[in-house]
Amino acid sequence: ATPMSVMVGVGKAAEYGILIRQGEALQTSSKLDTVVLDKTGTITEGKPAVTGVLCVEGQQEEAVLQLAASLERSSEHPLALAVLREAESRDLALQESSRFEALNGKGVTAVIDGMRYRLGNRRWLEQEGIKVSLDSASLTKTGATPLFLADEKHLLGIVGVADRIKPDSRDAIARLREAGMTVVMITGDIQASANAIAAQVGVDQVIAEVLPEDKAEEVKALQGEGRIVAMVGDGINDAPALAQADVGFAIGTGTDVAIESAGITLMGGSLHGVADAMAISAATVRNIK
Ligand code: ADP
Ligand code: MG
Repeated sequence: ATPMSVMVGVGKAAEYGILIRQGEALQTSSKLDTVVLDKTGTITEGKPAVTGVLCVEGQQEEAVLQLAASLERSSEHPLALAVLREAESRDLALQESSRFEALNGKGVTAVIDGMRYRLGNRRWLEQEGIKVSLDSASLTKTGATPLFLADEKHLLGIVGVADRIKPDSRDAIARLREAGMTVVMITGDIQASANAIAAQVGVDQVIAEVLPEDKAEEVKALQGEGRIVAMVGDGINDAPALAQADVGFAIGTGTDVAIESAGITLMGGSLHGVADAMAISAATVRNIK
């Protein structure tokens, strides 16, 4: 049977907007020494916007955006929504596309006017034989994610998309570190953009360019070092890592799959909930003993 003190702890947590689905998650929370935080939608708001467009010579900014948005029209990725909102605000009409495909952790591709176009990260386009001749540093140094647009042969431009950091992420991360946690940020985004965000919020370690299916492996590797690991995430691609972690914290505004894979849900979406849960857990465990 569930000890009385666990019930009290679960009730206390609920007052803080922390929903504990698995009683043992509350008890394990007092043993954690490492917190892995997803970047997009967990540390940041998850509502990115276009911050800039770079073009190769002979290309127009509006044409690059129009193609990018036309490629993203069938995608539900937060990056896609940012590109589509920007095209809409500039009154750019979307072009007809066919044979759309979204490739997890890479980008999107479709055929427009008989030509196949791709919009996604640099590594993927280079794998497809595209030479990336534009420098994206002016976008990435502020933490924006560069989306590279190419036709079948050449790079056409880069769309920079950036997300706001949640107002209390920095304070919540400082609190976790004061509580003795090693705080790790994990993301599918590139190293340069990830480092810019990491520097603003003050994490101990950054693991970038992780394919969606490899996030759980990274959590497992930390556990292999003897760490007791919490994973905090919001997305479909975080679900296996949330399940793998010793305690999974889902952001309540995130996807259902993430919530179902985690022992604990943070209703407000603030990372303070992780530190609160750990404090309540410590008090609960003291009462059990
Ligand atoms: P995260 O871990 O930050 O949630 P994802 O694994 O979803 O990121 O995506 C990793 C990278 O793959 C993105 O930063 C982007 O470069 C590329 N990507 C994924 N989906 C899209 C898309 N719909 N349009 C453009 N690029 C995409
Ligand atoms: Mg996310």
